[in-house]
Amino acid sequence: MGRYLKNRTIESIKNECTVDENGCWNWKKSSGGGLYINHNGIQYTPAKLTYLLSAGSIPPGTYINSTCKNICCCNPDHLVAGSHKSTGRVQPKRVSRSLNDENIPLIIDDLNEGILSNLQIAEKYKVTLIQVQILSREISKVNSTLKGTNKSE
Ligand SMILES: [Zn+2]
Repeated sequence: MGRYLKNRTIESIKNECTVDENGCWNWKKSSGGGLYINHNGIQYTPAKLTYLLSAGSIPPGTYINSTCKNICCCNPDHLVAGSHKSTGRVQPKRVSRSLNDENIPLIIDDLNEGILSNLQIAEKYKVTLIQVQILSREISKVNSTLKGTNKSE
């Protein structure tokens, strides 16, 4: 805990923002996009810090994107953590889940079963077709390696 550093709260950040009719908290100082807020001795973008303060943590390896497409917005209700950096065109309702430790084994099972098409699997797990195709290719590589090294008579 940074005892000597001034810590921020969501309210203190909101007080420095202009709240517009969309409910966006427009960080006044971010017209150039390059200003950071110091919190516990760490520099954060306003959006990253309000997300952190409201959610408690930022999932590792994620970017904080605004669902309202307002890059100056730091209203935590408008922010989502995603695996890709938004270019301001984020469409949160349609965003694909990515491959993770949970869905990869399930997708592999479905691929091995061979009942569903790659596209059906992609839709089932809300991942992209390309992600399924990549997994599918990896599996056939592994399977052919296994066959190749299987030296049982
Ligand atoms: Zn907003």
